[in-house]
Amino acid sequence: MEQSMEQQDLELIWHPCSQMKDYETLPPMVIDHAHGCWLYDIHGKAYLDIVSSWWANLLGHTHPVLNARIKAQLDRLEHVIFANFTHEPAITLARRLQKLVPPGLSKFQFHDNGSAAVEAALKLCFQYHQQTGHPERQKFLCLTEGYHGETVGALSVGSMDLFSLKYKPMLMETIHVEAPDCYRCPYGKQRDDCTCPCFGKAEEAFARYGKEAAAMIVEPLLQGSAGMRIYPALYLKKLRKLCDGYGVKLIADEIATGFGRTGTLFACEQAGITPDVMCLSKGLTGGYLPMSLTVTTQEIYDAFYDDYGTHKAFLHSHTYAGNPLGCAAALGVLDVLEQQQILLKARETARWLTKEMEGRFGKHEHIGEIRHIGLIHALELVADRKSKRPFPAEKRLGYQLYQKALARGLVLRPLGDVLYFNPPLTIAKEELTQAMEVLGEVLRES
Ligand code: PMP
Repeated sequence: MEQSMEQQDLELIWHPCSQMKDYETLPPMVIDHAHGCWLYDIHGKAYLDIVSSWWANLLGHTHPVLNARIKAQLDRLEHVIFANFTHEPAITLARRLQKLVPPGLSKFQFHDNGSAAVEAALKLCFQYHQQTGHPERQKFLCLTEGYHGETVGALSVGSMDLFSLKYKPMLMETIHVEAPDCYRCPYGKQRDDCTCPCFGKAEEAFARYGKEAAAMIVEPLLQGSAGMRIYPALYLKKLRKLCDGYGVKLIADEIATGFGRTGTLFACEQAGITPDVMCLSKGLTGGYLPMSLTVTTQEIYDAFYDDYGTHKAFLHSHTYAGNPLGCAAALGVLDVLEQQQILLKARETARWLTKEMEGRFGKHEHIGEIRHIGLIHALELVADRKSKRPFPAEKRLGYQLYQKALARGLVLRPLGDVLYFNPPLTIAKEELTQAMEVLGEVLRES
């Protein structure tokens, strides 16, 4: 008998971020096609993609504008080496983004995934100090619970044991500053009117390591993989000042937060800061194609600009750097965002969603907090609301609920025991209502 697609997949494919044994009870959904916020499997079942296919899909699947742009580009130029060569879509994209990113960011490097953009950012800051008279600046600072990707450099500046513990001996040593934890704030503060006493931990770390640090990397406002942990813009403002005071570069990893996910085009805007380096990916191409950018300042660029023989060039490359199809998709994204006022509409949808979520789940005995920024809304499940005691990790409650939601056609892929919506910005209120109804059902059942 012929094997099913699911069986063939399991025979051959090793999926990302998965214990493959789990697939014995939950075989992969074989997706045949998609449209808007919906995925359709080969058996005709529909799934609402409430997590934007790993936070990447920005405007819905098979979007007519993006599809048309990529198809048109495909017949013009599919790819070309990006050293010594260039093309109009990349130039236009850089020109347009320059007007949108925080002021002062003006040089664009092209890479092909988020982790690669982070690697380039780290190497860039390291080399910058080597070439500007500070070879002693070799350390990197980062926040606990941070996540920046899974290549070796990116893992080193990440703090999630789940991903990095096994690899510790092969990672570089970095300084992990205790991150703000607004839900379980040890200072008893509220997120919305907080003076950030927790910033003292950053000040302590800078007092100790500030003179030997090359850069500090953060996910601005939202530590996504840590469970959608949201912290105040004031923390970023303070961090910008602290970095300036010590001559430490600030890297903003906007891979998950960029392109309207937090309500503004970039999270840094809410703090009114310009980082020295910004990493972009995911929503950049609407979630269509693997492309990323490491964006930086003229000042950093100048430290690499010299005669070839001085060996100051940034000799970092990825084969698919500047892929024209990705650039065409990204230009389509910018057009749709602008012409259809997507951010404005998404902000309105977000306000409505907050009210609805709070009305439906705000008093649930096992939901410790509903936190939100932009359209991202996360619910943290706890065994006890008062003490905020989590459920035992072995229970894998989030995963259990995920399975139940999947059976009902909702992709509620959790982060531990944090369930969240991070949908395409174009999602309709009726679709969100459907998602909340499924969420309500699976919570009632558990
Ligand atoms: N940084 C952040 C903040 C991310 O959320 C991610 C991906 N989830 C990455 C970096 C890594 O991007 P990629 O998976 O494309 O390597």
